[in-house]
Amino acid sequence: MKKKYFAVVFLVLILLAVVFSSNQSIKVMKRIFATTMTDKNTKQIVIVIDPGHGGRDPGKVGVNNALEKDINLRVSLKLKTLLELNDVKVIMTREDDNGLYSQSDSNKKRADLDSRVDLIHSSHADLAVSIHQNSFTEEYVKGAQVFYYSGSNQGKQLAETIQTQIVKTIGDDNHRKAKSNVSYYMLKKTQCPLVIVECGYLSNSNESKLLLQDDYQENMAWAIHLAIMQFINKGGLEDTK
Ligand SMILES: [Zn+2]
Repeated sequence: MKKKYFAVVFLVLILLAVVFSSNQSIKVMKRIFATTMTDKNTKQIVIVIDPGHGGRDPGKVGVNNALEKDINLRVSLKLKTLLELNDVKVIMTREDDNGLYSQSDSNKKRADLDSRVDLIHSSHADLAVSIHQNSFTEEYVKGAQVFYYSGSNQGKQLAETIQTQIVKTIGDDNHRKAKSNVSYYMLKKTQCPLVIVECGYLSNSNESKLLLQDDYQENMAWAIHLAIMQFINKGGLEDTK
């Protein structure tokens, strides 16, 4: 009885050895192993969100006394939440009212911008979004506009996708187009694709009022996040700059 039992176990072991050493099963195991390795090695997308200004630098001041730095931060924090829901690793250049300079810096504005650029580089960001508000001497001028660095195909693509989505989401008959720029410090100094989103004009009384509203900020963040995910999903990060 015992002998028979061992013979059966032995046969089963032989059978299993044959099955697992066949070419086909080795291939299957290799594939499973490779898939697992690839999944583990797939790099999480890193995006830097940069709420412009902060601290002693208020940015533009609205006709209703709204401060650009506050609106920038609120839209940026909403954008952070939405991107994180899409498994994006978000790094913020600031999460409170403090600017990125120290009291000892003689040129605080330059020190602040340099710190932002350094942070984008050191975080190995795939892309970066700077959030700002605009202002002009003529009250009637309004509408969001996205800027990218001249010569950056990725920047252009990303900026155009965001511009289109903001116009669609906000629905304010905004005819502005994404625009290239060569002189903005952050655009010039950043290596990964960076876009500057000017969400609206604080010099326009209606837009300035809207930009202070929570649901308007939420819509703006929603549009920007949707466009970023469209850009990534269409392979925008795989194109060379
Ligand atoms: Zn600004």
